[in-house]
Amino acid sequence: MPKDTILIVDDERFFCNLLQNILENEYDIVIATNKKETLQHLKNQYIDLILLDIVMPEHDGYEICKEIKQHEKYSRLPIIFLTVKNEIEDELKGFYVGAVDYITKPISPPIVSARVATHIALAKATQKLEQHSVKLEQMVSQRTVELTRQIAEKQKVYEKLHYLANYDQLTLLPNRNLFNERLAYAYKLAKRNQSSFSLLLIDLDRFKIVNDSLGHHIGDLLLEQVGKRLSGCLRGVDSIARLGGDEFTVTLTELQQKQDATIVAEKIILDLSRPFQIHGQTIHIGCSIGITSFPEDGEDLSSMLKNADMAMYKVKHGTKNSYAFFSSEMTTHANHRMELEKDLYTALNNNDLFLLYQPIINLQSKKLCTVEALLRWNHPIHGAVPPEKIISIAEESDLILILGEWILKKSCEQLSIWRSENITNLHIAINMSTRQFDKKYDSVKLLTKLINQYNIPKHHIHLEITEGLLLEDSKDILDTLSELKSIGILFSIDDFGTGYSSLSYLRKFPVDILKIDKSFIGNLNIASGDDALIKAIIAMAQSLNLTVIAEGVETKEQLDFLHAHDCDKVQGFYFSNPVTADQISLMLKNKKTFF
Ligand code: C2E
Ligand code: CA
Ligand code: CA
Repeated sequence: MPKDTILIVDDERFFCNLLQNILENEYDIVIATNKKETLQHLKNQYIDLILLDIVMPEHDGYEICKEIKQHEKYSRLPIIFLTVKNEIEDELKGFYVGAVDYITKPISPPIVSARVATHIALAKATQKLEQHSVKLEQMVSQRTVELTRQIAEKQKVYEKLHYLANYDQLTLLPNRNLFNERLAYAYKLAKRNQSSFSLLLIDLDRFKIVNDSLGHHIGDLLLEQVGKRLSGCLRGVDSIARLGGDEFTVTLTELQQKQDATIVAEKIILDLSRPFQIHGQTIHIGCSIGITSFPEDGEDLSSMLKNADMAMYKVKHGTKNSYAFFSSEMTTHANHRMELEKDLYTALNNNDLFLLYQPIINLQSKKLCTVEALLRWNHPIHGAVPPEKIISIAEESDLILILGEWILKKSCEQLSIWRSENITNLHIAINMSTRQFDKKYDSVKLLTKLINQYNIPKHHIHLEITEGLLLEDSKDILDTLSELKSIGILFSIDDFGTGYSSLSYLRKFPVDILKIDKSFIGNLNIASGDDALIKAIIAMAQSLNLTVIAEGVETKEQLDFLHAHDCDKVQGFYFSNPVTADQISLMLKNKKTFF
């Protein structure tokens, strides 16, 4: 290990040699006799300690010490004064200019060695400590920078998470989460101030059709534009949210009276009725709005939402593109329906439901050729429940799928019983709900199974569907229909003429039978010549090679008219009400003619 270097500064050579003798075993020694030489040595090499004489001719020790200490680089260099003086004041002066210690002459070698060794060790320790603390400071400041960065990053992530948790990514409107929070706040405020507020639940009409026919991308763009239009209808104090799908809400605070909500509702309806332009397409939608108000319509938030939903539902299943205020009768009505739904489940399990069959007569042969299966339910308390009501309750849940399956199974089973009674030419028409054509429900599999199980000719089954189903224009539905058709099953359009004016769907999906709705037959006024419509429908059906059935025939005049105009088949009370399976058997066995 290289030795430490000591600079001895003294004008007396003898003294220098003395010190050198004492120290040279342990250290490298350099000697200076004046200020100039001292500074020169310092410049030339690294000095670990200076032994500096105070009394010297030109510049005394204090001066030299002061000069050295002026330089930042020597500020830590230990300087020990050598002096003959032993005065307190001189010592103080020495410390004042920067010395670390004193050795008085005459010197004692062990004291010189000990002090020199101590101060060199001390200086080294101090230097190490300083280096260490510089390093430490650097580390701390680096860590601080890193921590600041990490905190900023965390803050950003937090903000992003907060945004994702509270805002809808598509419309950038608040989502259900934030809506709940804001609603709770509006509720608290209204309760405290005894003021009122209203909640509008907005559901788009026809959105599903747009989404299914034009694709999800267009659907998304439409929702974005709807969000913007809705925001434009509101005042600054109102708040809007997208709850999901095509459902939005608006909370109106600081209303003078409950009826003021109608102003906003009407504005929204008007604004959303204007056509939307998306990628060159003109799209028409509308909306159904349910309104509830605090405190009249609900003491707590969940019942307010539930009631708004009920009011919206009423509009959706009624006029559409309109609004309704919640009323307590809606609850009674909804409760009644819920009760019926529950009873319907029980009825289905207890076999309390049954089918009646209404004859469809071939006008040429005057004989029964097909029966339409019609659902019946005698409720133990409410008596006979109209089948439209049963179906609409069932359609609110998956019950329609269970019920639909039951109807299909019963119909097939009954047809096979008739066939076992040697009634082999009979066809059966079965009413189908739209939901039964959902791909996930897989009616293809179900019907294939039933046809095989009961060994029925496929074309003896007619599925009755409505125009609305074909107008939904969904690929899934069309696929299912096509598959069923390729099996050999026949399709009828039920209630033809009531739904839509466009017939283009007939080209998209080729059906086999048209059933002219009974309202046309009922309104038939042969004398006034109001019959042009029916004539036109029959002519059109013939040109498309479709069989025409007239429903709801109640009089001989109607029958004669249809006969005269080549209608293929007829159905109605004039021939027979819906009857039991046994009665159908009897009619067929007796080869009954119906007119
Ligand atoms: P729909 O498919 O149009 O069935 C014909 C309806 O007209 C039956 O009413 C039938 O009783 C009635 N009707 C028959 N002849 C005449 C007549 O000369 N004059 C009048 N005014 N009406 C006549 P119902 O059985 O009350 O069924 C009503 C509706 O309920 C059906 O209309 C159908 O939409 C639905 N429905 C009935 N059974 C089922 C079913 O099993 N499944 C499904 N999805 N819907 C069904
Ligand atoms: Ca029908
Ligand atoms: Ca019908």
